[in-house]
Amino acid sequence: NNICRLFDLPINNVSMSKAINWVISHRFNLSSNKFHTKASEKPNLGFFINAHSINLSFKYNDFYQTLKQADCLFADGIGMRLAANHIDEPIQENVNGSDMLPKLCEQAANEGKSIFFLGSSPGVAKKAAKRLHNTYPKLKVAGYQHGYFKEHDNKRIIAKINQSKADILLVALGSPLQEIWLTNNAAYLHCNTALAVGGLFDFYSG
Ligand code: UDP
Repeated sequence: NNICRLFDLPINNVSMSKAINWVISHRFNLSSNKFHTKASEKPNLGFFINAHSINLSFKYNDFYQTLKQADCLFADGIGMRLAANHIDEPIQENVNGSDMLPKLCEQAANEGKSIFFLGSSPGVAKKAAKRLHNTYPKLKVAGYQHGYFKEHDNKRIIAKINQSKADILLVALGSPLQEIWLTNNAAYLHCNTALAVGGLFDFYSG
C-alpha cells in the first residue's frame, strides 16, 4: 500500500496527481478504490505534514491525536523526505500545499467542483479566490470567509460554508489551529473534502 509510517504517523506516500485525485474524488486511482470512501457524511480531512507539524505534534498531544485520525496525510518538504530515506521508503513526490493549490484549482475547474476559502486576515481569502479564479475562469468559488473568528461564531461560519454547497473546503488558520478546528467540526460540515492549507492564501493573494 501507499502508507509510509513516519514519526508514528501514517503518511500517504503518493504523487501530486494522485493526491489531487484524492482531494477531488477520494480515490488514489480510479480503477482501484482501495483508499476508503467513508460511509458517513463527514468530509474527508487531508493535512500536509512537514517538519514543523512533527515538532508541533511532539509538543501538543491533541494535535498529534488529530493527525492520527486524519483521512490523508501528505509528505510535505525535505524533512519528510530525509526521514523516509532513513527507513528506505523513498517519498514519491513532495506533496505540499503551495504546489498543489493551483493544480487543484485547475482540476476542480475542469471537473466542476467548487471550493470554499476559509481563513487568513479579512480580505485575503477573497483576494486569493479572485486571483485563482482569474487564472482558472471555470473555477467555481463557492465562497470565502476570513479566519479571525471566535468559538461562538463557529455555527454561523459552518452554516455559511454548508449553504455555499462547496465540494472542497480549504482552511487557512495556521497549525495546529486549522487541523484541530477541522477535526472538531468535521461532523457538521457537508463538503466532501477539507484541506488545511496554512499561510497559502497570503501567498496567493499578493
Ligand atoms: N490565521 C487565521 N486565524 C487565526 C490565526 C491565523 O486565519 O486565528 C491565518 C493567518 O492570517 C495566516 C495563516 O492563518 O494566513 C497562518 O499562516 P502561517 O504561515 O503562520 O501558518 P503555517 O503555514 O505555519 O501553518
